[in-house]
Amino acid sequence: MTGKHTGFSASVNAMYDKAVALMDLSPGLADKIRVCNATYTVRFGVRLRGAIHTFTGYRSIHSEHMEPVKGGIRFAMAVNQDEVEALASLMTYKCALVETPFGGSKGGLCIDPRQWEPHEMEQITRRFAYELIKRDLINPAQNVPAPDMGTGAREMAWIADQYQRMHTTDINGRACVTGKPLNAGGIQGRVEATGRGVQYALREFFRHAEDKAAAGLSGMLDGKRVVVQGLGNVGFHAASFLMREDGAKITAVIERDGAVFSDAGIDVDALHMHVQETGGVKGFAGAEYEADGTKLLEADCDILIPAALEAVIHTGNAARIKAPLIIEAANGPVTSEANDILVQKGCVIIPDLYANAGGVTVSYFEWVKNLSHIRFGRMQRRAEEARHQLLVDELERLSANTAVPWKLSDDFKANYLRGAGELELVRSGLDDTMRGAYGAMREVWHARGDVPDLRTAGFIVSIDRIAASYQAKGL
Ligand code: GLU
Repeated sequence: MTGKHTGFSASVNAMYDKAVALMDLSPGLADKIRVCNATYTVRFGVRLRGAIHTFTGYRSIHSEHMEPVKGGIRFAMAVNQDEVEALASLMTYKCALVETPFGGSKGGLCIDPRQWEPHEMEQITRRFAYELIKRDLINPAQNVPAPDMGTGAREMAWIADQYQRMHTTDINGRACVTGKPLNAGGIQGRVEATGRGVQYALREFFRHAEDKAAAGLSGMLDGKRVVVQGLGNVGFHAASFLMREDGAKITAVIERDGAVFSDAGIDVDALHMHVQETGGVKGFAGAEYEADGTKLLEADCDILIPAALEAVIHTGNAARIKAPLIIEAANGPVTSEANDILVQKGCVIIPDLYANAGGVTVSYFEWVKNLSHIRFGRMQRRAEEARHQLLVDELERLSANTAVPWKLSDDFKANYLRGAGELELVRSGLDDTMRGAYGAMREVWHARGDVPDLRTAGFIVSIDRIAASYQAKGL
């Protein structure tokens, strides 16, 4: 395709090298961190529909400076070794930036999940998991997968069950994979996590006048015109939260079968239902339709959220992108060359290694929950409520004795008295993580005159931490 770059790994490595050039790493360390430690290819046959079908899958381990290594498993026809290696390297940098104590990994299976019935998908997934588990490429202490494109809670439940069948006495078996359904050891808030993280990242960006000014933006998220590419789990949650909770206007949504757009804003929840029912955005009543969806990437807007595939913004279209702010909800949506064109134009990019880290952050909480065998908040919640009740009772008692008695509003009491449950704690932990990581990135961006963009700043923070961890190991 015109303007597309040559390789995903090459693109990530070019971004990495740009950061390394501004750092003072000990000789050879930059190369050691950059390379992918190992990539396993497994080929296996499954008897389906009266014939044996051979599938090819991968699990790539980019860096084991911390273990377990972490990263999703993708089911898609386009999966290949270069892609899983690039995605594994992004996991390393992502985990370091948001301080989840993992190395980076990624897996993929070449398959079109829509071609198979659920019971066939279960057979294939279990067989793939078996191949990885017997090589310790799925293991609570060594390698912990999660959902990615084409996979979700259902697949993670099959993988967890497969692991437990093969390790019947491993008391921590459930921690072998994250993104599981709640009833199979999952955690509340994991499904929405990556989209929620995008929302928290944007909120944090809009708290900093200097950063907004760099993109030529002002004000808050309210009324901002947002274009979203991809209404999958990440794009849908991000767009829905921004629309419902921050007052943003979703002016275009790009999907596989085209795009819909409306200056008045699109009801993303209704559109999502339409996509679930019909398989595409075409025919949605609340907006106009354009068959050549990618054109809408170039639409006039305030914020562009690519939340689908890698390399959708490349040298062929970068110069025509009008959005002053891009937040990379997908992994690698902007190529290295396109990044430079956009930065040159004054566009601010909130990079993938930060912007979509909400998923792995909540995966970390799930892994900790599995290892501690107790739900977050179970011990504290009622004690917290009892203490708050004490304070409310005391205030009301004091008020009764004043000349003009006052009352606490019912609304305040209801909110204040409620102890935090798992979902609130997960969101709080995620928000704190996104704020902290943004702070670390922007400090490097602004404090040094030679750091051109947030992405390079993010890489510098991340590489610094990985280098420190290698050095602590004596390397
Ligand atoms: N697949 C997601 C990502 O690319 C989540 C990974 C995880 O939770 O381990 O970040």
